[in-house]
Amino acid sequence: MPELPEVETIVRELRKKVVGLKIKNAWVDPRRPVNTGVGAGWAQIKKQTKGKKILSVRRRAKYIVMDISGDKTLFVHQKISGHLLYGKWKLVNGVPKSAIHGPLEEDRQNGYIRFILYLNNGYQLGLSDLRRFGKVILVDDDKVKDLKEISGLGPEPLEINFSRFKKLFDPSNGLRARKKGRLKQVLMDPTFIAGIGNIYADEILWASGLHPLSRAENLDGKDIRRIYDHTIRILKKAIKYQGSSMDDYRLPSGKKGRFQDIQNAYQKTGQKCKKKDGGIIKRLVIGARSAHFCPKHQILK
Ligand SMILES: [Zn+2]
Repeated sequence: MPELPEVETIVRELRKKVVGLKIKNAWVDPRRPVNTGVGAGWAQIKKQTKGKKILSVRRRAKYIVMDISGDKTLFVHQKISGHLLYGKWKLVNGVPKSAIHGPLEEDRQNGYIRFILYLNNGYQLGLSDLRRFGKVILVDDDKVKDLKEISGLGPEPLEINFSRFKKLFDPSNGLRARKKGRLKQVLMDPTFIAGIGNIYADEILWASGLHPLSRAENLDGKDIRRIYDHTIRILKKAIKYQGSSMDDYRLPSGKKGRFQDIQNAYQKTGQKCKKKDGGIIKRLVIGARSAHFCPKHQILK
């Protein structure tokens, strides 16, 4: 699933391409329509986006928020395998085919276009979504904050300072956020902190030297400082490398990100730990998720 660095990369790329353009029309795969959540249905989305200008594209947690002229916002949750692409597609027997050569045409991860916004510069925004869990929600501007995806979110990791981060772990802080439980699950809990999923939770714990089954309530101040520092460093580095394309995620151009080339833990099962401590990366199932870690240097607390 695209996490903070992947969604941030998509948002930065799209900002350069689509802000200021007008939406001419919308298309949705009639056989497999994209989920429109609690927002307007497809007929309304087509009608209410027509002729509207894209004013801004921003990210909150793992979501893309596109403000359009008038009083509506397009909210995109890419979920497991969805990613927004910027290209040109032609319908061949009702199936979108890329009119641009290269990865948009050749990489199969880009070949599951379920939804298209036609723009007034001749280009299109397309949502490729193999597993079809993605959502496109059209809501009133003032209702965005009430969406269930948004309303309970924890802070943005790149926007909080250490003292606030430390408070998240403090049982007396009075926050609704989770302060107890297994570290991997806590880091992935969006009500605790936003935007971190499987890939970055594994990478942060590997770098911090903490076992994914460590309990959050057993950490001391130094552990929390290490987690904070590595979180900032790793997320920034992953944005610089334009995200991880280990799974389905691609850039709006259809190309792959490069962070998978420097990952240390996520999906590295059986490989030697890059700390050269003699450890071999192991995979462990926690709840419905897996964790990848080095049993040598990642300490269980
Ligand atoms: Zn190791």
